[in-house]
Amino acid sequence: MGSIEPPTNAENGSLTFTAAVTGGAAQLSESTGAPAGENDVAKKRKASMLPLEVGTRVLCRWRDNKYHPVKVIERRKLPGSGANDYEYYVHYTEFNRRLDEWVKLEQLDLDSVETVVDEKVEDKVTSLKMTRHQKRKIDETHVEGHEELDAASLREHEEFTKVKNIATIELGRYEIETWYFSPFPTEYNDCVKLYFCEFCLNFMKRKEQLQRHMRKCDLKHPPGDEIYRCGTLSMFEVDGKKNKVYGQNLCYLAKLFLDHKTLYYDVDLFLFYVLCECDDRGCHMVGYFSKEKHSEESYNLACILTLPPYQRKGYGKFLIAFSYELSKKEGKVGTPERPLSDLGLLSYRGYWTRVLLDILKKHKGNISIKELSDMTAIKAEDILTTLQTLELIQYRKGQHVICADPKVLDRHLKAAGRGGLDVDVSKLIWTPYKEQS
Ligand SMILES: [Zn+2]
Repeated sequence: MGSIEPPTNAENGSLTFTAAVTGGAAQLSESTGAPAGENDVAKKRKASMLPLEVGTRVLCRWRDNKYHPVKVIERRKLPGSGANDYEYYVHYTEFNRRLDEWVKLEQLDLDSVETVVDEKVEDKVTSLKMTRHQKRKIDETHVEGHEELDAASLREHEEFTKVKNIATIELGRYEIETWYFSPFPTEYNDCVKLYFCEFCLNFMKRKEQLQRHMRKCDLKHPPGDEIYRCGTLSMFEVDGKKNKVYGQNLCYLAKLFLDHKTLYYDVDLFLFYVLCECDDRGCHMVGYFSKEKHSEESYNLACILTLPPYQRKGYGKFLIAFSYELSKKEGKVGTPERPLSDLGLLSYRGYWTRVLLDILKKHKGNISIKELSDMTAIKAEDILTTLQTLELIQYRKGQHVICADPKVLDRHLKAAGRGGLDVDVSKLIWTPYKEQS
């Protein structure tokens, strides 16, 4: 599952984390007034560590001027510099990967270098980041009994996705800082910034190329069918098979803001629901979700993203609600593809809580999970875990019952926050996807 909205400081304690370490290596050794001899020893010891190995754990001064534990993910030599002049790509172990960055040596506290690298922990983390392709690969290899390939293919993926390549993109009126690596074609390897056409999502290396493109590009909205319009909001359904290049461009773009999510080259199998804010210049993409045309696991959503300039406006919640409206029209229950990101899970928990508790509040008499599922298109398992998390399921006289004290419901509803923009179902003109043969 993809990221939806950035956390507030309150939601994500890691952003307000303050490390106990307040001083850097240089300050410490100077202020202690240690004898010159010891200082030399310390200097030599530090010099012998350099350049730091990939995998090293050390403290690093972050943008809050405090020191935080990091792991060195990659290193590169600074052009025209001495043998040990490297910069390091680090992952702050307490922060989300979107904050990974290149840092200079002077930001690292070499006194804090840990020499033992814990590979076992590493493997566990990696296994959580399996992609659909890898899952499939693993299923296949398990059948054939070549388990040793699993770890190798996972490492390969990890190797490939670790360092953020594109730092910023230009999209419509916005210049946006990216969050994660995205596997753009190799000819874009040397680019730090990419210029996107906000309508067809073609991307270019230079501003002049984009300007030339904008004079020719005749799209003013995503390709595909407009299936929803309400005020200035429009939703377009784009078939990945009919609009392959658009689908691929969208995936490249989205991966810049989504961690541990496969980039699907096989866009044929997906429908993309692209949400736009419309004005007289055209329909500007604010976010999207993708959906498999056929899902045996009853997934009604694969990836979901609100672009950073449009976050915190309720669009993520709108996209989730929209995915369930489509499921209702299909007469099916749905669930988002796993794994859910931290932010994705928060958004879904909020949506499920609001929808289910609103019903429980108004409902008179008994109601079963099955009935709730039929009314909302939310999968029974998701209903059960939501109600269990809220401690609304009790075991009484040998059976599970939903206990719906109005005061408790109100408290949970308040905590779940507002629902954001509503989907006006009367404005949805849509028929479920059918394979044309
Ligand atoms: Zn274009």
